[in-house]
Amino acid sequence: MIVSEGITKKYGNRVVLNNFSLTITRGEIVTLLGPNGAGKTTFVRIVLALIRPSGGKIEIFGKDPFKDKSVFSRLGYVQELPNLPPFLTGRQVLLLSANIKGARKDEVDELLGVIGMVENADKQISKYSKGMVQRIAIAEALLGNPEILIMDEPNIGIDPIFNLNVRSLLNKLKKSGTLILMTSHDLEEVKKIADRLILINKGNKMFEGSTEELIKKFLGIR
Ligand code: ATP
Repeated sequence: MIVSEGITKKYGNRVVLNNFSLTITRGEIVTLLGPNGAGKTTFVRIVLALIRPSGGKIEIFGKDPFKDKSVFSRLGYVQELPNLPPFLTGRQVLLLSANIKGARKDEVDELLGVIGMVENADKQISKYSKGMVQRIAIAEALLGNPEILIMDEPNIGIDPIFNLNVRSLLNKLKKSGTLILMTSHDLEEVKKIADRLILINKGNKMFEGSTEELIKKFLGIR
């Protein structure tokens, strides 16, 4: 459902993504793992057609996202450090978003339950912890049942309650056929969730495989 072929991104002479190819299909949880500045967000922003690559090809559902924006109605996105309106409540944010997306209003109640935010749904975002904001942002992305969920640095570890639920939520989505792509700089955080890890450094793909293979290759242990 997402195919990237030889994507390169340059800023002046600086190459921040180098000939990056990746294919992700439905029902898969894939993590782009790499240190700060590795090129993870750049890749995500290219997938979202927010920045143009300098070379290469990207397809979502077999379509060019730069030409056919309709693909985004089937995709949910959680940005790094979600910026939600502080004066609204979590429920209001979700209801507003449900309206825009044409999602069912009862989906809001359902998702508030899934993310464990029923009790706090009517408090203002400004009163939320970072983890609670993150949960609302994930619920917002899941409104309308997207077939692709992209999360940029979800920082799952900042929220112990969500950390407990996140794996089961993502696995449930995966079983229903959702493609999940997330970025992280923390192997600990994603090693139990990801089916496939892509290690990226300075714009180059260094490794692609399972967590076990990664640990074996780079740490020489099981
Ligand atoms: P982080 O974990 O910090 O978000 P990342 O892996 O997502 O890191 P990117 O944000 O993709 O990294 O950045 C990759 C490189 O591209 C960085 O060195 C960054 O400074 C550079 N970069 C990003 N945007 C621009 C821009 N508009 N102009 C010049 N360089 C840029």
